[in-house]
Amino acid sequence: MFSDELLKYDWDETTARIMSMTSSDVERALSAEHLTDRDFMALVSPAATPYLEIMARKSRMITEQRFGKTMQLFIPMYITNSCTNSCVYCGFNCHNKFHRVILTPEQIKQECEAIKQLGPFENLLIVTGENPAKAGTDYLEEALRVCRPYFSNLTIEVMPLSTEDYARLTHSGLNGVICFQETYNRKNYKKYHPAGMKSDFEWRCNGFDRMGMAGVHKIGMGVLIGLEDWRTDVTMMARHLLYLRQNYWRTKYSVNFPRMRPSESGFQPNVVMSDRELAQLTFAFRIFDPDVDISYSTRENHKFRNNMATLGVTTMSAGSKVDPGGYATYTDSLEQFTISDDASPAKVVEDLKALGREPVWKDWDRAFD
Ligand code: SF4
Repeated sequence: MFSDELLKYDWDETTARIMSMTSSDVERALSAEHLTDRDFMALVSPAATPYLEIMARKSRMITEQRFGKTMQLFIPMYITNSCTNSCVYCGFNCHNKFHRVILTPEQIKQECEAIKQLGPFENLLIVTGENPAKAGTDYLEEALRVCRPYFSNLTIEVMPLSTEDYARLTHSGLNGVICFQETYNRKNYKKYHPAGMKSDFEWRCNGFDRMGMAGVHKIGMGVLIGLEDWRTDVTMMARHLLYLRQNYWRTKYSVNFPRMRPSESGFQPNVVMSDRELAQLTFAFRIFDPDVDISYSTRENHKFRNNMATLGVTTMSAGSKVDPGGYATYTDSLEQFTISDDASPAKVVEDLKALGREPVWKDWDRAFD
């Protein structure tokens, strides 16, 4: 399990190694054919900032070779904001008093129909808070059953599940799972996740092994930028990705690095990442792993998403609502965070085309797997 593997890496020592990288380390990483975690550290280090243009060109070239000039589009559907966790940075945390919603199958159907009015979306991301008693695996299975006729690709972003439950949902039409580790800093993890199921670092961290063992087709990983030193966190994630690729090589992978946005919790980020730094990180991941899907959500603003659309990013959400029932049922309920890009799917498509990118609504079907 990865939590054991992670014990090999000391957080502070990793930070020190990143900060001691030099221009010759960066140049070696840029000319390497197969990159190691050390090369990744060089590319995300301050020593790489003078190489940003070179990294951008390399990232664009690799992306076009592997993915063509395409951009996958997806849309999230929040089906419940009920949550038993108390993540200090999240508006849905259980101490925040507001009306909790668990959409019924009929309401989920209405959301599907409303989304289909927005554009020909085929990739749906179903999102929940974490409430296993009220919105557990049975509820998720029912949601998949309702959504299946409308979308060809169903991904969930929900609480970590057991291997058996991932396998069960995979048999019920699930294609992918996204789970954010939030931070790999084991020592500080509990500060941000003081109670509830999410306070168990190992259970969350090893959820990716359970997905791999259950045969989930695609696994999405992520750290929340704003909690801990971002360079160290993403290096741990790169190591995690290497580990997963070695152990579950049939699985496809995606990475996300959401920058924290304002939420009802009032939490102020400990770390602020600039646009240049996010660009550097995106290029570094593309150069490190040419096949990984790199996803940007509407947390990023429209202009920046457009700037990055040709330089390494391969998946984007569009037209997102981040509150349950936001498309059709309850159009004014509490959002999990404030979105930054509120452009319509039609506008996102128009801009991608102007950039020479072909928007792809669907590129995979279970029948072809
Ligand atoms: S981040 Fe997720 S698990 Fe944590 S409080 Fe928010 S909805 Fe619940």
